[in-house]
Amino acid sequence: MNYISTRDNYRSVQAAEAIRLGMVPAGGLFVPEEIPEITLQELEEMQDDSYQELAYRILSKYLTDFTLEELQVTVNKAYNRETFPHLDITPLVKLADDIFILELWHGPTAAFKDLALQLLPYLMVQAVNKTEMDNEIVILVATSGDTGKAALEGFRDVEGIRIIVFYPDGGVSKIQEAQMVTTGGDNTSVVAVEGNFDDCQNAVKDVFGDLNFNQKLNQQGYQFSSANSINWGRLVPQIVYYFSAYKSLVQNEEIKTGDKINITVPTGNFGNILAGYYAYRMGLPVNKYICASNENNILTDFLNTGVYNLKREFHKTISPSMDILLSSNLERFLFMITGNNGQKVSKWYDELKNKGKFTVGQETLKKMQTIFAGEFSTEQETRKTIKETAEKYDYLVDPHTAVGIKSYKKYLQRIGETEMPVVIDSTANPYKFSRAVLNSLKGKVDIEDDFALLAELHQESGMEIHRALRSLDQAAIKHQRNCRGTEIRQEIEDILSLS
Ligand SMILES: *Cc1c(COP(=O)(O)O)cnc(C)c1O
Repeated sequence: MNYISTRDNYRSVQAAEAIRLGMVPAGGLFVPEEIPEITLQELEEMQDDSYQELAYRILSKYLTDFTLEELQVTVNKAYNRETFPHLDITPLVKLADDIFILELWHGPTAAFKDLALQLLPYLMVQAVNKTEMDNEIVILVATSGDTGKAALEGFRDVEGIRIIVFYPDGGVSKIQEAQMVTTGGDNTSVVAVEGNFDDCQNAVKDVFGDLNFNQKLNQQGYQFSSANSINWGRLVPQIVYYFSAYKSLVQNEEIKTGDKINITVPTGNFGNILAGYYAYRMGLPVNKYICASNENNILTDFLNTGVYNLKREFHKTISPSMDILLSSNLERFLFMITGNNGQKVSKWYDELKNKGKFTVGQETLKKMQTIFAGEFSTEQETRKTIKETAEKYDYLVDPHTAVGIKSYKKYLQRIGETEMPVVIDSTANPYKFSRAVLNSLKGKVDIEDDFALLAELHQESGMEIHRALRSLDQAAIKHQRNCRGTEIRQEIEDILSLS
């Protein structure tokens, strides 16, 4: 399968090269030229697949330049009892009639990012070998909190690869920060950057696009790549759990194969929901994807009006992994929905860069709305949803998942009740955001130490503390770097000891 640029500015490449490069060097993202189809018959065949077999089935349709054996090894290393102790990998929990929660946080760092980042390092190493690269790969990551730790865990001590994670100073939770700065491994670095996530992500994107800097690195034996969801290798493993959720619904006799369902995804960079959209385009019977945002509701506005306008206030919320205004993966979606029109996408992104906004035409807007609905949850609504979900269903959710639940309820109100089942992605374990969860349950809590909050939440809920967070406060701090967005290049040079 060939991969092409969303901006018509690069030759077509195979999957291995797309994964090794991370993004298109001149700007733009790699997308598969065609979308493999899954027939109703294959959907039925999938019923007998384990999660691993399902992953293998989906990956082999997209990563056609990897051998079947390579993919098999990759899948088995990524998804096993050690990395994901739950037998189902992504268990589907019934919350109420027609409402199902897809728990995506059973991996080593307690957020859904593990599903991709436990797998990507194996693909990356194979991709480097396949494309006959001698340079050492330097993975640059900009994180709003969860990607950083998941990537660090995935790439820690992987030979031939260095990883540098940048996070907004003060823009992630204490627990998230502790998870990152306590990571071991000789090949890992973590840097706090002044500013918010968009500043951080833009600074890292700038480095990717800086040809002189890249050349300097190449001469000294290094080459950048990305573990953010701009990398195709991050997206393709995420397609799997949408099929897995569907399979569980059929298995539990909630639906018959071929019946349509709704899916709600708490969204930031548009990666998770885009993987869902790929599943739909492959043949997964979906009625609507509800794109759920917090008060940074640029996507809600975009899906309702066709105007993507960056000129708005940035809000720090209790769902920080979704505090994003520039959703990178929207670009891939726009490319697909305009029938692979790279010219149009380039024009929109030029406008975004120069004027801070762009507007899609009526035809494109209508097309988007046939499959996506945009909704958002205010801070107050999110808190109330956490409390209500605990009281009504005896089920504890994190703020991101709560944004999903509330957005779905608003969608129902808007269209009128429906009996169609909905799968709501649960993107993080509630303990990862203990302070916000406890505050929501009890009103303000007076405990300053974020680690004491874990025990308090355990007292309150009885839910087991996720293994990733249990002894974090005793782990030694291994990283203490910080810099300004404009100093990222010097920081990288210092870490790599460049001359
Ligand atoms: C990253 C993240 C999101 C947003 O996912 P995108 O793929 O960026 O849309 C939502 N919730 C949590 C907990 C996350 O870590």
